[in-house]
Amino acid sequence: MSNRACMLCGIVESSKRFQEEGCPNCVEVLDIGLSTTSPTFEGLVAIGEPEKSWVARWLRVDKYLPGLYAVKVQGRLPQDIVENLPFYRPRDGTATD
Ligand SMILES: [Zn+2]
Repeated sequence: MSNRACMLCGIVESSKRFQEEGCPNCVEVLDIGLSTTSPTFEGLVAIGEPEKSWVARWLRVDKYLPGLYAVKVQGRLPQDIVENLPFYRPRDGTATD
């Protein structure tokens, strides 16, 4: 079973889950499927209580569900999707603050 990471929130789930149910955090803003996920990611972090975790804040997932998150996700969302996501911040390591 291969895992993939969501390019928007960074959560890591099985390909099957993304294909069948979509990303648990992003299902309202992204289509269900694999096109918004990446098979290449680095640095897995398990986050149990996002609101209390500094790691979650650092990864900007403190508003998301508990789960396994990738620190870095290769790839970017397609441009037509990004246009509808003003808050999108690529997780491929190129974003700067
Ligand atoms: Zn997501």
